[in-house]
Amino acid sequence: MIDTVETFANDLQLSYVVERAISFDYDKLQPLWSVPVQWKITLRRRAGYGSTHGIYLHPGLQITTKKDLIETFLHEVGHAMEGFIYGRYGHSYNWVEQMIRLGQVPKRTHSIMSCMTKYIAQTTPVDIQKFIGSS
Ligand SMILES: [Zn+2]
Repeated sequence: MIDTVETFANDLQLSYVVERAISFDYDKLQPLWSVPVQWKITLRRRAGYGSTHGIYLHPGLQITTKKDLIETFLHEVGHAMEGFIYGRYGHSYNWVEQMIRLGQVPKRTHSIMSCMTKYIAQTTPVDIQKFIGSS
C-alpha cells in the first residue's frame, strides 16, 4: 500500500500540524490528505520534491535525524499546498505562506549529507517507526 500525506503524517505524529494548516483554506486543501508520498532515490542531491501529484523523499532521510525528515516532509507538503491554492510552485510568498501555516521556518534548502548519495539501496525498507520517540 502506498503512503499518502495522511498516513505519512500520522506515522510521524504530524496529523495535527497538517490538519491545522489545511484549516486555513479547507476547500482547496482537503485533497492534500490523499497526495501520495514515496521514497525516490533518483532525487540525488535533493532531499525532496513536492507537488499536488506527489511528494518524493530521498531515502537518505531514513538514516538522518527525525528533525531532518520532518522538516523536509513539511517543506514538500508546503509545495503541494501552494500547488492546490495557487497552481504554481517556487519559494516565493505563496510557499512561505504555507510554511507559516505549517508552523515551519521557511528555509529554502537543507544540507543533508545522507541525501547527497545515490548509492543507498533502492530497496531500503520504509521504517518510520524508528524515528518515533527520537529527535
Ligand atoms: Zn522547495
